Amino acid sequence: MKPARVTLIPGDGIGPEITRAVTYVLEQAGAALSWDEQLGGKAALQKLGNPMPDALLASIKRNKVALKGPLETDVGRGYRSINVTLRKYFDLYANLRPVRTLKGVRAAFSGVDLIVVRENTEDLYSGIEHQVAPGVVESVKVITARASRRISKFAFELAVREKRKTVTAIHKANIMKLSDGLFLDCARKVAKGYPTIAYKELIVDNACMQLVLRPRDFDVLLLENLYGDIVSDLCAGLVGGLGLVAGANLGDRVAIFEAVHGTAPDIAGQGKANPLALLFSSIMMLRHLGQDRPAARLERAVERLLAEGKVLTPDLGGRGTTTAVAERLAALL
Ligand code: NAD
Repeated sequence: MKPARVTLIPGDGIGPEITRAVTYVLEQAGAALSWDEQLGGKAALQKLGNPMPDALLASIKRNKVALKGPLETDVGRGYRSINVTLRKYFDLYANLRPVRTLKGVRAAFSGVDLIVVRENTEDLYSGIEHQVAPGVVESVKVITARASRRISKFAFELAVREKRKTVTAIHKANIMKLSDGLFLDCARKVAKGYPTIAYKELIVDNACMQLVLRPRDFDVLLLENLYGDIVSDLCAGLVGGLGLVAGANLGDRVAIFEAVHGTAPDIAGQGKANPLALLFSSIMMLRHLGQDRPAARLERAVERLLAEGKVLTPDLGGRGTTTAVAERLAALL
Protein backbone atom coordinates (compact mmCIF):
# COMPACT_ATOMS: atom_id res chain seq x y z
CA MET A 1 0.00 0.00 0.00
CA LYS A 2 1.24 3.48 -0.89
CA PRO A 3 1.89 5.38 2.36
CA ALA A 4 -0.57 8.15 3.11
CA ARG A 5 1.09 11.52 3.55
CA VAL A 6 0.01 13.02 6.87
CA THR A 7 0.90 16.36 8.49
CA LEU A 8 2.38 15.73 11.93
CA ILE A 9 2.29 18.55 14.48
CA PRO A 10 4.18 17.47 17.62
CA GLY A 11 2.82 20.46 19.55
CA ASP A 12 3.74 21.90 22.93
CA GLY A 13 4.18 20.58 26.48
CA ILE A 14 3.76 16.79 26.48
CA GLY A 15 3.04 16.93 22.72
CA PRO A 16 6.52 15.96 21.45
CA GLU A 17 6.80 13.07 23.97
CA ILE A 18 3.48 11.51 23.07
CA THR A 19 3.82 12.04 19.31
CA ARG A 20 7.24 10.35 19.39
CA ALA A 21 5.72 7.38 21.23
CA VAL A 22 2.69 7.19 18.95
CA THR A 23 4.56 7.46 15.63
CA TYR A 24 6.87 4.66 16.82
CA VAL A 25 3.92 2.40 17.70
CA LEU A 26 2.16 3.20 14.41
CA GLU A 27 5.25 2.15 12.52
CA GLN A 28 5.47 -1.10 14.52
CA ALA A 29 1.82 -1.79 13.68
CA GLY A 30 2.55 -1.58 9.96
CA ALA A 31 0.59 1.60 9.30
CA ALA A 32 1.39 2.95 5.82
CA LEU A 33 2.10 6.58 6.69
CA SER A 34 4.66 9.14 5.64
CA TRP A 35 4.98 12.12 7.95
CA ASP A 36 5.19 15.74 6.91
CA GLU A 37 6.31 17.27 10.21
CA GLN A 38 5.34 20.89 10.88
CA LEU A 39 5.59 23.30 13.76
CA GLY A 40 2.55 25.05 15.23
CA GLY A 41 1.67 26.89 18.44
CA LYS A 42 4.26 27.99 20.95
CA ALA A 43 6.98 25.81 19.40
CA ALA A 44 6.47 27.60 16.07
CA LEU A 45 6.34 31.02 17.71
CA GLN A 46 9.66 30.40 19.42
CA LYS A 47 11.41 28.97 16.34
CA LEU A 48 9.76 30.84 13.47
CA GLY A 49 8.19 33.87 15.13
CA ASN A 50 4.65 32.81 14.12
CA PRO A 51 2.37 30.35 15.95
CA MET A 52 0.58 29.45 12.72
CA PRO A 53 3.20 29.40 9.95
CA ASP A 54 2.19 29.36 6.27
CA ALA A 55 4.10 26.09 5.85
CA LEU A 56 1.81 24.42 8.39
CA LEU A 57 -1.34 25.59 6.59
CA ALA A 58 0.07 24.60 3.19
CA SER A 59 0.98 21.15 4.48
CA ILE A 60 -2.50 20.48 5.89
CA LYS A 61 -4.07 21.81 2.68
CA ARG A 62 -1.93 19.45 0.64
CA ASN A 63 -2.26 16.33 2.79
CA LYS A 64 -5.86 16.87 3.99
CA VAL A 65 -5.12 14.78 7.08
CA ALA A 66 -3.14 15.77 10.17
CA LEU A 67 -2.21 14.22 13.50
CA LYS A 68 -1.78 16.94 16.06
CA GLY A 69 -0.26 17.13 19.53
CA PRO A 70 -1.75 19.71 21.93
CA LEU A 71 -0.93 23.40 21.43
CA GLU A 72 -0.48 25.83 24.27
CA THR A 73 -2.62 28.96 24.57
CA ASP A 74 -1.91 31.64 27.17
CA VAL A 75 -4.69 32.34 29.65
CA GLY A 76 -6.18 35.85 29.50
CA ARG A 77 -3.61 37.25 27.04
CA GLY A 78 -1.50 36.43 23.99
CA TYR A 79 -2.40 35.17 20.53
CA ARG A 80 -5.69 33.51 19.71
CA SER A 81 -5.81 29.72 20.23
CA ILE A 82 -4.22 28.01 17.23
CA ASN A 83 -6.42 24.97 17.90
CA VAL A 84 -9.54 27.09 17.44
CA THR A 85 -8.02 28.95 14.48
CA LEU A 86 -7.13 25.73 12.62
CA ARG A 87 -10.64 24.37 13.13
CA LYS A 88 -12.11 27.56 11.71
CA TYR A 89 -9.61 27.94 8.90
CA PHE A 90 -10.28 24.45 7.56
CA ASP A 91 -13.97 24.53 8.49
CA LEU A 92 -13.62 21.42 10.67
CA TYR A 93 -17.16 21.78 11.90
CA ALA A 94 -17.55 18.46 13.73
CA ASN A 95 -15.55 17.54 16.78
CA LEU A 96 -16.07 13.85 17.47
CA ARG A 97 -15.01 12.40 20.82
CA PRO A 98 -15.88 8.81 21.65
CA VAL A 99 -15.80 8.05 25.38
CA ARG A 100 -15.99 4.48 26.60
CA THR A 101 -15.03 2.34 29.54
CA LEU A 102 -11.88 0.35 28.89
CA LYS A 103 -11.32 -3.03 30.48
CA GLY A 104 -8.48 -2.91 32.97
CA VAL A 105 -8.80 0.83 33.70
CA ARG A 106 -9.96 1.72 37.19
CA ALA A 107 -12.77 4.25 36.92
CA ALA A 108 -15.86 5.25 38.84
CA PHE A 109 -18.18 3.64 36.28
CA SER A 110 -18.38 0.64 34.01
CA GLY A 111 -20.25 0.25 30.77
CA VAL A 112 -19.91 3.87 29.60
CA ASP A 113 -20.09 4.10 25.82
CA LEU A 114 -21.04 7.50 24.50
CA ILE A 115 -19.98 9.86 21.73
CA VAL A 116 -19.62 13.61 22.16
CA VAL A 117 -20.46 15.53 18.96
CA ARG A 118 -19.43 19.14 19.41
CA GLU A 119 -19.98 22.03 17.00
CA ASN A 120 -16.48 23.29 16.33
CA THR A 121 -16.61 26.62 14.49
CA GLU A 122 -18.74 29.18 16.33
CA ASP A 123 -20.47 29.94 19.66
CA LEU A 124 -18.40 31.84 22.26
CA TYR A 125 -15.28 30.66 20.41
CA SER A 126 -16.04 33.20 17.68
CA GLY A 127 -13.20 35.29 19.16
CA ILE A 128 -15.32 38.44 19.04
CA GLU A 129 -14.61 40.25 22.30
CA HIS A 130 -14.43 43.95 23.06
CA GLN A 131 -14.40 46.46 25.84
CA VAL A 132 -17.53 48.57 25.88
CA ALA A 133 -16.27 50.89 28.64
CA PRO A 134 -13.57 50.51 31.29
CA GLY A 135 -14.63 47.58 33.46
CA VAL A 136 -17.24 46.36 30.97
CA VAL A 137 -16.48 43.78 28.26
CA GLU A 138 -18.58 41.83 25.83
CA SER A 139 -17.94 38.42 24.34
CA VAL A 140 -20.14 37.55 21.40
CA LYS A 141 -21.82 34.17 21.12
CA VAL A 142 -22.48 33.41 17.47
CA ILE A 143 -24.94 30.66 16.58
CA THR A 144 -26.10 30.18 13.00
CA ALA A 145 -28.80 27.97 11.55
CA ARG A 146 -26.38 26.67 8.93
CA ALA A 147 -23.80 25.44 11.46
CA SER A 148 -26.46 24.12 13.83
CA ARG A 149 -28.16 22.17 11.05
CA ARG A 150 -24.99 20.63 9.73
CA ILE A 151 -23.71 19.51 13.15
CA SER A 152 -27.15 18.07 13.96
CA LYS A 153 -27.14 16.22 10.66
CA PHE A 154 -23.64 14.97 11.40
CA ALA A 155 -24.77 13.63 14.81
CA PHE A 156 -27.78 11.80 13.38
CA GLU A 157 -25.84 10.36 10.44
CA LEU A 158 -23.23 9.13 12.91
CA ALA A 159 -25.95 7.60 15.08
CA VAL A 160 -27.31 5.68 12.09
CA ARG A 161 -23.86 4.57 10.91
CA GLU A 162 -22.77 3.44 14.37
CA LYS A 163 -26.13 1.79 15.14
CA ARG A 164 -26.78 4.12 18.06
CA LYS A 165 -30.24 4.62 19.57
CA THR A 166 -30.44 8.16 20.93
CA VAL A 167 -29.17 11.66 20.21
CA THR A 168 -29.42 14.07 23.16
CA ALA A 169 -29.12 17.78 22.40
CA ILE A 170 -27.63 19.65 25.37
CA HIS A 171 -28.41 23.35 25.72
CA LYS A 172 -29.24 26.35 27.89
CA ALA A 173 -32.15 27.64 25.83
CA ASN A 174 -34.08 28.53 29.00
CA ILE A 175 -31.61 31.41 29.43
CA MET A 176 -30.14 31.97 25.96
CA LYS A 177 -33.48 31.83 24.25
CA LEU A 178 -32.36 33.19 20.90
CA SER A 179 -28.97 31.51 20.39
CA ASP A 180 -29.51 28.15 22.06
CA GLY A 181 -33.14 28.36 20.97
CA LEU A 182 -31.99 28.47 17.34
CA PHE A 183 -29.60 25.57 17.91
CA LEU A 184 -32.43 23.46 19.38
CA ASP A 185 -34.82 24.45 16.64
CA CYS A 186 -32.38 23.18 14.03
CA ALA A 187 -31.70 19.96 15.95
CA ARG A 188 -35.46 19.27 16.25
CA LYS A 189 -36.00 19.81 12.53
CA VAL A 190 -33.10 17.53 11.60
CA ALA A 191 -34.29 14.88 14.11
CA LYS A 192 -37.60 14.59 12.21
CA GLY A 193 -35.67 13.12 9.27
CA TYR A 194 -34.36 10.25 11.43
CA PRO A 195 -37.39 8.42 12.82
CA THR A 196 -35.34 5.38 13.92
CA ILE A 197 -33.17 7.47 16.27
CA ALA A 198 -34.73 8.75 19.50
CA TYR A 199 -34.21 12.47 20.09
CA LYS A 200 -33.95 13.99 23.57
CA GLU A 201 -33.04 17.36 25.05
CA LEU A 202 -31.41 18.26 28.35
CA ILE A 203 -30.41 21.57 29.92
CA VAL A 204 -26.63 21.56 30.29
CA ASP A 205 -26.46 21.79 34.11
CA ASN A 206 -28.89 18.92 34.51
CA ALA A 207 -27.02 16.99 31.79
CA CYS A 208 -23.80 17.28 33.84
CA MET A 209 -25.51 15.84 36.89
CA GLN A 210 -27.17 13.03 34.92
CA LEU A 211 -23.81 12.22 33.31
CA VAL A 212 -22.10 11.70 36.66
CA LEU A 213 -25.07 9.77 38.07
CA ARG A 214 -26.09 7.61 35.12
CA PRO A 215 -23.51 7.86 32.34
CA ARG A 216 -24.63 4.56 30.87
CA ASP A 217 -27.95 6.11 29.86
CA PHE A 218 -26.19 8.38 27.35
CA ASP A 219 -25.50 7.56 23.74
CA VAL A 220 -24.75 10.38 21.25
CA LEU A 221 -24.47 13.87 22.78
CA LEU A 222 -25.00 16.88 20.52
CA LEU A 223 -23.58 20.16 21.82
CA GLU A 224 -22.54 23.65 20.87
CA ASN A 225 -18.84 24.49 21.05
CA LEU A 226 -18.38 25.62 24.69
CA TYR A 227 -20.70 23.06 26.32
CA GLY A 228 -19.08 20.39 24.15
CA ASP A 229 -15.62 21.39 25.32
CA ILE A 230 -16.55 21.29 29.00
CA VAL A 231 -18.70 18.17 28.85
CA SER A 232 -15.93 16.30 26.96
CA ASP A 233 -13.55 16.66 29.91
CA LEU A 234 -16.31 15.67 32.31
CA CYS A 235 -16.95 12.55 30.22
CA ALA A 236 -13.20 11.79 30.15
CA GLY A 237 -13.31 11.79 33.95
CA LEU A 238 -15.99 9.09 33.87
CA VAL A 239 -13.74 6.57 32.16
CA GLY A 240 -10.32 7.16 33.72
CA GLY A 241 -9.20 10.60 32.61
CA LEU A 242 -7.85 12.69 29.78
CA GLY A 243 -5.01 10.28 29.09
CA LEU A 244 -7.49 8.00 27.33
CA VAL A 245 -9.90 10.08 25.27
CA ALA A 246 -9.41 10.61 21.55
CA GLY A 247 -10.82 13.14 19.16
CA ALA A 248 -11.26 14.02 15.52
CA ASN A 249 -11.94 17.43 13.97
CA LEU A 250 -13.78 16.73 10.76
CA GLY A 251 -14.74 18.91 7.82
CA ASP A 252 -15.79 18.12 4.28
CA ARG A 253 -12.24 18.18 2.95
CA VAL A 254 -9.78 18.10 5.85
CA ALA A 255 -9.51 16.07 9.07
CA ILE A 256 -7.27 16.80 12.06
CA PHE A 257 -6.95 14.09 14.69
CA GLU A 258 -5.92 14.98 18.23
CA ALA A 259 -6.47 13.93 21.83
CA VAL A 260 -9.01 15.79 23.96
CA HIS A 261 -6.33 16.78 26.47
CA GLY A 262 -4.05 19.80 26.40
CA THR A 263 -0.32 20.29 26.85
CA ALA A 264 -0.37 19.10 30.51
CA PRO A 265 2.31 21.58 31.66
CA ASP A 266 2.33 19.99 35.13
CA ILE A 267 3.90 16.77 33.79
CA ALA A 268 5.61 17.94 30.57
CA GLY A 269 9.14 16.67 30.07
CA GLN A 270 8.87 14.09 32.85
CA GLY A 271 8.06 11.02 30.79
CA LYS A 272 4.76 10.63 32.66
CA ALA A 273 2.34 11.48 29.86
CA ASN A 274 -0.07 8.80 28.76
CA PRO A 275 0.27 8.35 24.98
CA LEU A 276 -2.98 6.33 24.67
CA ALA A 277 -5.32 9.27 23.99
CA LEU A 278 -3.23 10.32 21.01
CA LEU A 279 -2.85 6.68 19.98
CA PHE A 280 -6.64 6.23 19.99
CA SER A 281 -6.87 9.42 17.89
CA SER A 282 -4.41 7.93 15.43
CA ILE A 283 -6.50 4.73 15.28
CA MET A 284 -9.45 6.92 14.26
CA MET A 285 -7.15 8.47 11.67
CA LEU A 286 -6.11 5.08 10.27
CA ARG A 287 -9.79 4.14 9.81
CA HIS A 288 -10.40 7.50 8.12
CA LEU A 289 -7.56 6.61 5.73
CA GLY A 290 -9.00 3.15 5.09
CA GLN A 291 -6.20 1.38 7.00
CA ASP A 292 -8.43 -0.89 9.08
CA ARG A 293 -5.91 -3.68 9.61
CA PRO A 294 -3.23 -1.76 11.51
CA ALA A 295 -6.07 0.03 13.35
CA ALA A 296 -7.49 -3.29 14.57
CA ARG A 297 -4.02 -4.59 15.49
CA LEU A 298 -3.37 -1.49 17.56
CA GLU A 299 -6.71 -1.79 19.32
CA ARG A 300 -5.95 -5.39 20.29
CA ALA A 301 -2.50 -4.40 21.55
CA VAL A 302 -3.96 -1.62 23.74
CA GLU A 303 -6.59 -4.03 25.10
CA ARG A 304 -3.83 -6.43 26.11
CA LEU A 305 -1.69 -3.65 27.56
CA LEU A 306 -4.57 -2.53 29.80
CA ALA A 307 -5.62 -6.06 30.70
CA GLU A 308 -2.14 -7.10 31.83
CA GLY A 309 -1.73 -3.75 33.66
CA LYS A 310 2.05 -4.13 33.96
CA VAL A 311 3.24 -1.07 32.07
CA LEU A 312 0.95 1.91 32.59
CA THR A 313 1.56 5.63 33.11
CA PRO A 314 0.88 7.23 36.54
CA ASP A 315 -2.55 8.62 35.53
CA LEU A 316 -3.69 4.99 35.26
CA GLY A 317 -2.08 4.01 38.55
CA GLY A 318 1.12 2.64 37.01
CA ARG A 319 4.76 3.61 37.22
CA GLY A 320 5.65 3.26 33.56
CA THR A 321 6.97 6.03 31.35
CA THR A 322 5.58 7.22 28.04
CA THR A 323 8.40 5.40 26.24
CA ALA A 324 7.93 2.21 28.26
CA VAL A 325 4.25 2.12 27.27
CA ALA A 326 5.20 2.52 23.60
CA GLU A 327 7.78 -0.26 23.87
CA ARG A 328 5.35 -2.61 25.62
CA LEU A 329 2.76 -1.93 22.90
CA ALA A 330 5.35 -2.70 20.24
CA ALA A 331 6.12 -6.01 21.98
CA LEU A 332 2.41 -6.86 22.21
CA LEU A 333 1.96 -6.11 18.52
P1 NAD B 1 -4.66 19.65 30.15
O1 NAD B 1 -5.60 18.77 29.40
O2 NAD B 1 -3.37 19.96 29.52
O3 NAD B 1 -4.37 18.98 31.59
C1 NAD B 1 -5.39 18.71 32.53
C2 NAD B 1 -4.91 17.63 33.52
O4 NAD B 1 -4.91 16.36 32.86
C3 NAD B 1 -3.49 17.86 34.01
O5 NAD B 1 -3.41 17.45 35.37
C4 NAD B 1 -2.65 16.94 33.15
O6 NAD B 1 -1.47 16.47 33.76
C5 NAD B 1 -3.62 15.78 32.88
N1 NAD B 1 -3.34 15.18 31.56
C6 NAD B 1 -3.65 15.69 30.36
N2 NAD B 1 -3.21 14.89 29.38
C7 NAD B 1 -2.62 13.84 29.97
C8 NAD B 1 -1.96 12.68 29.48
N3 NAD B 1 -1.85 12.43 28.17
N4 NAD B 1 -1.44 11.83 30.37
C9 NAD B 1 -1.55 12.04 31.69
N5 NAD B 1 -2.16 13.11 32.22
C10 NAD B 1 -2.69 14.01 31.37
O7 NAD B 1 -5.48 20.98 30.48
P2 NAD B 1 -4.96 22.41 31.02
O8 NAD B 1 -3.88 22.23 32.01
O9 NAD B 1 -6.20 23.10 31.38
O10 NAD B 1 -4.36 23.13 29.72
C11 NAD B 1 -2.98 23.28 29.45
C12 NAD B 1 -2.76 23.92 28.10
O11 NAD B 1 -3.25 23.08 27.06
C13 NAD B 1 -3.44 25.29 27.91
O12 NAD B 1 -2.53 26.15 27.26
C14 NAD B 1 -4.62 24.98 27.02
O13 NAD B 1 -5.00 26.07 26.22
C15 NAD B 1 -4.06 23.85 26.16
N6 NAD B 1 -5.08 22.95 25.58
C16 NAD B 1 -4.86 22.56 24.29
C17 NAD B 1 -5.75 21.67 23.71
C18 NAD B 1 -5.50 21.25 22.29
O14 NAD B 1 -4.39 21.39 21.79
N7 NAD B 1 -6.49 20.73 21.60
C19 NAD B 1 -6.83 21.15 24.44
C20 NAD B 1 -6.98 21.54 25.78
C21 NAD B 1 -6.09 22.46 26.35
